[in-house]
Amino acid sequence: MAGAAHRVSLLQPLWRLFLLALGWFGLLVHASILPDVGELEAWRHCPRCGAQLEHDEDGAKVECPECEFQHHAHSHATACAVVVDDRGRVLLTRRAGPPYEGYWDLPGGFIGEAEHPHDAVRRELDEETGLAVEPRDLIGVWIDRYAEQGEDGPATMNLYFTATATGGEGEPNDDVAELRWVGRDEFPQGDELAFHIAEVLEAWRHQHP
Ligand SMILES: [Zn+2]
Repeated sequence: MAGAAHRVSLLQPLWRLFLLALGWFGLLVHASILPDVGELEAWRHCPRCGAQLEHDEDGAKVECPECEFQHHAHSHATACAVVVDDRGRVLLTRRAGPPYEGYWDLPGGFIGEAEHPHDAVRRELDEETGLAVEPRDLIGVWIDRYAEQGEDGPATMNLYFTATATGGEGEPNDDVAELRWVGRDEFPQGDELAFHIAEVLEAWRHQHP
């Protein structure tokens, strides 16, 4: 009995060390995906009156002591679409510029001020592909950065909708180099897909068996 109790007391600190190491590993992995650079870190002067800005402790807010200007750090919202044609194929776009230049992406982009995400999908699809589309169900929301893995970039909150094409020819335009309709079992490999697109396509496939 005494021996067993002794073994427990030795194992517990070792177990704690193991969990601590796991935690550190988790933090490192997370940091490599989302570099810890706050949106407001480099802000020095008030954009309204030019006075020196005051930063709060956690990097979430700046305030101007002169004119009461305030700004809260936030993720930049995008709206994107999994457009499916009547043969069940999905529209992929090849990116014409960085980040992820040359990688396959889903069409969409940043949501404008006071713009509904559905309107952003319609506008972006028109700009990038010339297609008229109708957004339908929300597939999910992904948090990422507008940068290639391991690089700094603004934080993004990305909304993905299913959509159907209702008109237009489908020509690459704007920041898109090429369009391709791809069967659900013929998606490019993960290392040919930009951002978190592999996860989005997997989620869509799971929701639409
Ligand atoms: Zn000011």
